[in-house]
Amino acid sequence: MIIKFWGTRGSIPVPGKKTLMYGGNTPCIQVISKKGEHVILDAGSGIRALGNKYLKNVPENPINIFITHSHWDHIQGLPFFLPLYSPEFKVNIFLSASSRNKVIQVIHTLWNEDYFPVKTEILKSKRSYNKISSGQKYQINDLTIETIEPNHSKGTLSFKITEGNKSVVYMTDNEILYETFSEKPSINDLETRNKKLIDFCKGADYLIHDSMYTLKDFRSKIGWGHSDNIALAFFSILSEVKNLILFHYEPDYSDEIIKKMNMQTKKVLRECNSRINCLPSKEQMEIEL
Ligand SMILES: [Zn+2]
Ligand SMILES: [Zn+2]
Repeated sequence: MIIKFWGTRGSIPVPGKKTLMYGGNTPCIQVISKKGEHVILDAGSGIRALGNKYLKNVPENPINIFITHSHWDHIQGLPFFLPLYSPEFKVNIFLSASSRNKVIQVIHTLWNEDYFPVKTEILKSKRSYNKISSGQKYQINDLTIETIEPNHSKGTLSFKITEGNKSVVYMTDNEILYETFSEKPSINDLETRNKKLIDFCKGADYLIHDSMYTLKDFRSKIGWGHSDNIALAFFSILSEVKNLILFHYEPDYSDEIIKKMNMQTKKVLRECNSRINCLPSKEQMEIEL
C-alpha cells in the first residue's frame, strides 16, 4: 500500500513562508492498495489538490472517503474536491453518524446556500453515503478498515488499515490521557488510561497520530481532545509500533517548532531505549509499505 499526505495541519489552513516545509493544509491522506483501491482519510483543505490530480488520471475503482469526524478542518475541502462534480467518478463517503440520512445531511450542509454558491444538484458523480461506527470492520477489496472511538468529540473515529501483514493506524484528534497534576506524563498511568487505544494500535507498522501541542502548550489545552508529543512518544512505545508519524500540527507552529518537536520526540524515544522511527508528516510525503 502507498500512503501519501495532502494535508497535515490541524484546525485551519495556514499557508505562508513559515509552513512551507510541513505544509499548511488541513488533514487529508491518500491510501492506494496493491490492487488499486483508493481510500482517502479525511477531507480537509488538502483534498483539493488531490482531487485535481484525480481529474487528470481517473481511477478504475471508486474513491472511498473515510472521514474521522465532521469538525470543520476534516471536511472543509469537500466542496473543492472536483471529482464530486464529474460523472466519470464514483465516490463513496463514510462518516460516523446516527443514521445514513444524517451522513447526507452533514455532508450536504457544506453546499448550503449560506456557505456556498452552488447546490448539490450540480454534483454529477455517482455517490454513496455510508454510516460507519466504532468497533466495526469494513472491507474495501484487499483493504480491511477497523474503527475505534478516540478521546475527542463524541462520534469521532480512528482507523486501522490492514493489507496482508502490513498495517497503518490513523489516529488524529485524540487526547492521550494521563494524570495532569504531574508535570510530565508517567508511562504507567498513561498505559492504564489509554489501554483500549494502545491495544488497537498494537504492533502497527505506522502510527499517524495527533501531535498538536508541545508539552508546555498542552497544559492550557487539557480537555480539548488533542495530544502533546511527549505523551505520544510514551503511547507509541506502549503500542509497540514500528514507525511514528507526527500529525495535526497546531496552526501557529512554524516549521522550526515542528522540527524541534520531532527532535524532542526522538530524544524521548531514545532515552526509553525504543527503536521506533519517528518522523514528522509533511505534504506530498509518500510512504510505501
Ligand atoms: Zn482536527
Ligand atoms: Zn476535531
